Amino acid sequence: MSTFTAREEETISRIRQEVADLHAELVRYGLVVWTGGNVSGRVPGMDLFVIKPSGVDYDKLSPENQILCDLDGNVIPGTAGSERSPSSDTAAHAYVYRNMPRVGGVVHTHSTYATAWAARGEAIPCVITAMADEFGGEVPVGPFAIIGDDSIGRGIVETLTGHRSRAVLMKSHGPFTIGKDARDAVKAAVMLEDVARTIHIARQLGEPLTIGQPHIESLFDRYQNVYGQSTPAPKGAAL
Ligand SMILES: [Zn+2]
Repeated sequence: MSTFTAREEETISRIRQEVADLHAELVRYGLVVWTGGNVSGRVPGMDLFVIKPSGVDYDKLSPENQILCDLDGNVIPGTAGSERSPSSDTAAHAYVYRNMPRVGGVVHTHSTYATAWAARGEAIPCVITAMADEFGGEVPVGPFAIIGDDSIGRGIVETLTGHRSRAVLMKSHGPFTIGKDARDAVKAAVMLEDVARTIHIARQLGEPLTIGQPHIESLFDRYQNVYGQSTPAPKGAAL
């Protein structure tokens, strides 16, 4: 049985509430079906994160049934929700938190358009301004990896380390997104599906025009640092 100070309990409760609420956004934006997909959030100041339980309907998710894990993905015994199994993607989330200390949130979905790009193993090219704003360039493809060990997490970290994109398309699988907190990672998942859909549709009648690299740089810089959509990120390493 773990014991936390009142202040730590308060922080954990806040992240439980945030992660539970953010799952509704995956449903609202049509990114998930059945019980697929998951959001997690790091507990600031502690080597812990909160993640969705496995196999629970989205309308049954609550702060109390989110699961508290350590950074190795072990459930903290005796805490709310600990009688259930965490999401089957917990090892991947844990690997990201262990290896990317500035990441505060991770999201995984099989959203249709992003997954269609992943199925072809094709990076999404940065051909619209919204994508330059949000991702600062292309959304890269990560390796094919089987669930059950560290290989998905390793693929995410290797692909996104030093990359500006907060999203990776795991080959033949689907997207994982990261953010400074869980909300930021959910926003990346929503924006990713939107640009994946638009560029897929653009492709149907021709080859989208390219945007020059200087324009991509200035769009990303303005959106990230001036427009105030997120906290400033150092160039070449958003997180
Ligand atoms: Zn998956």
